Amino acid sequence: MIGSGARTRRSTHSWTSSAVSRNKDCGARVYTQRNACLFSGYGEKGSALKRTHRNQEGGCNVTTGNHDHRLIGPALGYFHIQDDAAGSVFWHPRGAILYSCIQDHIRKRLSGAYREVRSPQLYQPRMWEKSGHLEHYGENIYRVDGDHVLKPMNCPAHVEIFKAGNHSHHDLPLRLSEFGCCHRKEPSGALHGIMRLRQFVQDDAHIFCAEEHVEEEVSSFCRLLRRVYADFGFPDVDVGLSLRPDDRAGSDEIWDRAEDALRSGISAAGLAYEEYPGEGAFYGPKIEFGLKDSLGRRWQCGTLQLDMVLPGRLGARYSAPGGHRVPIMLHRAILGSMERFIGILLEHHEGDLPEWLAPVQAIVIPVEERHESYASRIRSSLGSERVEIDASGRSISDRIKRAIAARSPVIIVAGDREMEAESISVRRRGSRRSLEMPLASFSLECPPE
Ligand SMILES: [Zn+2]
Repeated sequence: MIGSGARTRRSTHSWTSSAVSRNKDCGARVYTQRNACLFSGYGEKGSALKRTHRNQEGGCNVTTGNHDHRLIGPALGYFHIQDDAAGSVFWHPRGAILYSCIQDHIRKRLSGAYREVRSPQLYQPRMWEKSGHLEHYGENIYRVDGDHVLKPMNCPAHVEIFKAGNHSHHDLPLRLSEFGCCHRKEPSGALHGIMRLRQFVQDDAHIFCAEEHVEEEVSSFCRLLRRVYADFGFPDVDVGLSLRPDDRAGSDEIWDRAEDALRSGISAAGLAYEEYPGEGAFYGPKIEFGLKDSLGRRWQCGTLQLDMVLPGRLGARYSAPGGHRVPIMLHRAILGSMERFIGILLEHHEGDLPEWLAPVQAIVIPVEERHESYASRIRSSLGSERVEIDASGRSISDRIKRAIAARSPVIIVAGDREMEAESISVRRRGSRRSLEMPLASFSLECPPE
């Protein structure tokens, strides 16, 4: 269950303020999309750690027991942040690989059901005036060059893409997805590592549908989300359903049907949920999804919001027997902010990412220079771009230590014996000793099917 009745929360699409809230049952903290500033302070947390990291790719070392993504990420050469671009992330090669792996996995999960789009960053203000964002949330939106605004969210752009399609009821439900880069004003004191930023990317999508589609769309989204969270090592999902607020658009009959469709959709996916009367958005009820990390902390990441207002406000229509109709729009995200999710992942796994996801899946260590071509053959045989060869000439034990420090889940050593036998000596994370096996019989872990 997410939060208490008194909680305030921040989701990917809404603009309400946020805070850490309490879980009713267990008292556990719930970390919302913008709550990271309330996370325990750097000094307090950092001082309790035995920090031995150096901010250097390939030469890093973070002690185990370290859960702070702000230490883990730079130490493993994934990213850094500097004041020249406060609130944005400099992704290093290994971090960019991790980022792409996550995106590829999400794309695989959406494949066949969603159509990916890309939308502009810079806009004339009029679209955001029409949508109501400038009036209500203008203080969070960056204005650039006098008369342009930087996109703070993707929703209106997706409505425009829908409108350009001249759709009929046969085309619905239409699901448009985007890894959408957004900018939002944040005070510098609120920024926190990569958990809370001014520039971030949402794994966003909007589902344009008719009322009769809502239940099934909610249900299939719940199943998708649960599967994705499990893929990344989060089997526990909490679900909160926020119901009609006092100040709202639409009749009570419409709200009755919308709320019932959400209830039925969640139940059909086999998930338990808790209801929060009065906490829905003025444009419709919403669902928020939380996951539990290895420290028992609960993070609100996913969201699904039913919107009965924005499509009509921006003039979206589809043709149906008897005339044109306004679609219902479901805003939904699984991970929320990509950057924040990566921060959660790093803290959850203490930097030891699963083999299928690790930016460096394996490091091959040729014993001598004459074994380097065999090391290259090993890399080709493994068929992954994420296999590195350490031919630095350091001692074997040094190179093994470096591979462990880089959190490579697999370390392979190749010398005369292995080269002659077409074998490898391999050590997997968690194992104390290496095993020799035929090269042909070894494979790296694949992403979950
Ligand atoms: Zn949206």
